[in-house]
Amino acid sequence: MDARIGLGWDLHRLAAGRPFVLGGVRFPHDRGPLGHSDGDALVHAVIDALLGAAGEGDIGTLFPDTDPRYAGISSLVLLDRVMAGLKRKRLAVRHVDVVVAAERPKIAPRAADIKAVLAPRLGLSPDRLGIKAKTAEGLGPVGRGQAVACWAVALLVPSGRGTRSASPRRRP
Ligand code: MG
Repeated sequence: MDARIGLGWDLHRLAAGRPFVLGGVRFPHDRGPLGHSDGDALVHAVIDALLGAAGEGDIGTLFPDTDPRYAGISSLVLLDRVMAGLKRKRLAVRHVDVVVAAERPKIAPRAADIKAVLAPRLGLSPDRLGIKAKTAEGLGPVGRGQAVACWAVALLVPSGRGTRSASPRRRP
């Protein structure tokens, strides 16, 4: 099996008056991530893990923050575009695991909500998407509630016709 892994990381500064969106889920909070898009650090980390596994660079290359088309866009739209690209390359997501570091709001109670949003988009059953929430024990910018950080790993496998064969694909 020609499996590929990718690693993604992202951090967003939190600012007053911005909606707090993480994993496509809105949390009640007095501040939210700054960003050209909606600043969804979890989805950005997942996107970078997927792109890394697919050999496709990173989110900033694909969706530049200087491009007005992406201003304020839901990061779920970007994720859907990346998934369409994987499909064209005949790659399927087999498993994704995520760590979130946020002091506030509490993420863990809504991990199931995040899975419900993201798992179908990734083509995964909920047990193949890990969402683990940590705090930074009051230390650093995350601990002071000034930022949220996310790490993600993704495992991709070939999909579609011809992927069961163990022999290398013939080229004309
Ligand atoms: Mg980001």
